Amino acid sequence: MIWDTIIAGGGHNGLVTAAYLARAGRNVLVLERREMVGGCSVTEEIWPGYRVSTGAYLSSLLQEKLVRELELVRFGYHVEPKDPPFFSPLPDGRHLFMWQDPARTHSEMAK
Ligand SMILES: Cc1cc2nc3c(=O)[nH]c(=O)nc-3n(C[C@H](O)[C@H](O)[C@H](O)COP(=O)(O)OP(=O)(O)OC[C@H]3O[C@@H](n4cnc5c(N)ncnc54)[C@H](O)[C@@H]3O)c2cc1C
Repeated sequence: MIWDTIIAGGGHNGLVTAAYLARAGRNVLVLERREMVGGCSVTEEIWPGYRVSTGAYLSSLLQEKLVRELELVRFGYHVEPKDPPFFSPLPDGRHLFMWQDPARTHSEMAK
């Protein structure tokens, strides 16, 4: 096989670039040093029985355009809205939640 492009690193930027080049008809080779692709966006079982996001924990930098053009939903991409998106426990036992609903967040702030 003759490669048109070799990409070092199978993080999401390398994978997106490879996908677009492949769709344009190029022969692309992605070389990843780890045993899994995804870079900082992976989910790993770092303790037996617990799968966690070891780096990125929410999908904020992935452009909607890429999701659409690369048909990621067809390949299993699914976004679970975070609600509440934010929780902060305080040392004195109080806490603050922020919710998707601004009215609920306002009443939390009002406490
Ligand atoms: C702790 C943390 C939390 C984050 N949280 C979020 C978040 O919640 N939401 C969000 O949108 N973004 C988050 N980010 C940012 C996001 O993870 C990065 O923007 C994104 O991962 C960058 O993708 P990338 O493909 O450029 O690089 P990376 O994800 O870093 O991927 C690079 C890949 O290249 C491989 N590699 C490196 N050198 C070589 C080599 N010489 N040969 C072969 N392979 C190599 C690495 O193993 C890795 O797989 C977070 C980042 C960190 C560090």
